[in-house]
Amino acid sequence: MENEKVYVFGHKNPDTDSICSSMLHELLSKKNGGECVEARRLGNINKETQYVLNYLGMESPKLLEKVEPGQKVVLVDHNEFNQSVEGIKDADIIEVVDHHRICNFETSVPIHYTARPYGCTSTIFYEILKITGAKVEKVEAILMLSAIISDTLLLKSPTTTEQDKIAVEELGKIADIDVNEYGLNMLKAGTNLDDFSEQELVNLDAKLVDKDGKKFVIAQINTVNIPDVLKRQQKLEEAINQEIQNKDLQLFVLAITDILNSNSQIIAIGEKANCVEQAFGKKLENNMIFLEGVVSRKKQLLPPIDKNV
Ligand code: MG
Ligand code: MG
Ligand code: MG
Repeated sequence: MENEKVYVFGHKNPDTDSICSSMLHELLSKKNGGECVEARRLGNINKETQYVLNYLGMESPKLLEKVEPGQKVVLVDHNEFNQSVEGIKDADIIEVVDHHRICNFETSVPIHYTARPYGCTSTIFYEILKITGAKVEKVEAILMLSAIISDTLLLKSPTTTEQDKIAVEELGKIADIDVNEYGLNMLKAGTNLDDFSEQELVNLDAKLVDKDGKKFVIAQINTVNIPDVLKRQQKLEEAINQEIQNKDLQLFVLAITDILNSNSQIIAIGEKANCVEQAFGKKLENNMIFLEGVVSRKKQLLPPIDKNV
């Protein structure tokens, strides 16, 4: 009997962790004789991830628009259904490997679920590989390294854990690369925003929260020069207002994050914009608040905003 196909993928608006962890899962499954596992992506490849694929000379996973009922799937780097593929409710989720809060998630049968509060999904994969004593190939090491560097901004984000630091050190040796040089080049590749429209920019890395009567988006753009991005403030705000209308949002927060100095300028728009003032104890000026030392949506933006909306 022909093996049933299994799709492995990360969240919508895929980031480097979502893509690299999916590709890693496919590679590891093939090595273990699981020919039927295939990595997929739920959106366009961003420029940071493209840098990694170019470096490795690898093709990006194919786009997955929706899944049929009963389709076997593995989720990495997410679990919330509203961040997943269309049709996920009726899919057959056989495994999850993730480092996010568990939310809006349920299955009808028992599954493999690995959740660890680390900075990156790939750190979980690396730890599992270490426990099993498997040899880590160079390409696998670079996939994991890239994901960890991306999610932790080269270990500078407050989401960084001891496990991430250990993984980067050991994977750097296996990959035999200068982690800082490679990481900085990779992160910088992701900050080239020139050929994106404002509408694309506010959607590049956007996460929707839709629960308990709350509906808001926190989007993030990485840059090495905040004033450069703010030259487009007016058009960005137009795009944000369009998103608010189209998706019936109460609030849209755009974090423009300086990855070198670890600060964020946030733009907050919507009927609940004042919640952001409460969340950070600062007044919005010209729809903006500057947040020193804030780079992590998961740890520093989502919890206070979610609490106040
Ligand atoms: Mg992610
Ligand atoms: Mg991640
Ligand atoms: Mg991210």
